[in-house]
Amino acid sequence: MSTSPFSRTTNIAFIGLGNMGSPMALNLLRHYPNLAVFDLVPEALAKLAAEGARAASSAMDAVKDADVVISMLPAGKHVKALYLGDDQQPGLVSVLKPNCLVIDSSTIDAASAQAVGKGLVAAGMQFIDAPVSGGVGGATAGTLTFIVGGDEKCYQAALPILQSMGKNIFHAGAVGAGQIAKICNNMLLSVLMVGTAEALQLAVDNGLDPKTMSDIMLQSSGRNWTLELYNPCPDVMPNVPSSKGYQGGFMVDLMKKDLGLAMDTAIQSQSSTPMGSLTHSLFSMHSLQGNGRLDFSSIFKLFSKTKS
Ligand code: NAD
Repeated sequence: MSTSPFSRTTNIAFIGLGNMGSPMALNLLRHYPNLAVFDLVPEALAKLAAEGARAASSAMDAVKDADVVISMLPAGKHVKALYLGDDQQPGLVSVLKPNCLVIDSSTIDAASAQAVGKGLVAAGMQFIDAPVSGGVGGATAGTLTFIVGGDEKCYQAALPILQSMGKNIFHAGAVGAGQIAKICNNMLLSVLMVGTAEALQLAVDNGLDPKTMSDIMLQSSGRNWTLELYNPCPDVMPNVPSSKGYQGGFMVDLMKKDLGLAMDTAIQSQSSTPMGSLTHSLFSMHSLQGNGRLDFSSIFKLFSKTKS
């Protein structure tokens, strides 16, 4: 049974209506009609207003009655500036209602999440980090995975709200743990993708059919998620980015960003991450070669002798 104090009439503010935030806010609106939204881009605001959300004139305006605030912003510096303020603007911390629950779903470094959490809690608010996995497709379908960092009470309070936008909700630990869990997963995913791509290309270079090779590995010890659901070789699998010119899916530049966060985290914890470090370099190089906006499975092209 849910122990959340929130109901359908709870006032919620959603800030950051980009590729992810816009479809997330649309799903949220279906369950929580008292939704105020804000983004720096007027077109993004207009889209949500047309569906019935209140288009706020600023982030301060959006949160003025809010019991819950959700943010979906590009990076740690945007999240810190929004809540704690910077040279340009005061932070929302000065206007949020006491006890307001702040849920930041952006993918940012754990240190920034912890700094924001500390600042908000010191001022009488509550905070969880809740980064997501599942991409724009998951955000649109309402099937995102949320990985939460924060105390148990805040996690339970947030649960029904997160369930209105996602399917699998995990509690990873204290504030910042959501971010750490997310980048560990994405670091492993990048390693699996690069390994699968080079193994398939080696097979192709030696005259094997990539579909046959994939079937063999799927029944052998090389089996992994990328082979099962996201084969990087064009035309092996229907309806995946590799069979659609690497359009859609999860961009190389976002994988590069997450691997950069993983490397920063590894430096701070003095952890050894040689495979993550290598895939960070490979995805950076792939991006520099003009592939930053392609799906990350396009790393397959890096190993291809025909650079199509
Ligand atoms: P995006 O660039 O499309 O959207 C970010 C939005 O934030 C923009 O509309 C921008 O105008 C707005 N914004 C920036 N600063 C603002 C401010 N101060 N006030 C109000 N609005 C502001 O990015 P996205 O793809 O939606 O990603 C958002 C976050 O989710 C990132 O941290 C990203 O790493 C993470 N993420 C993205 C994906 C994906 O597939 N796109 C998947 C998982 C996680």
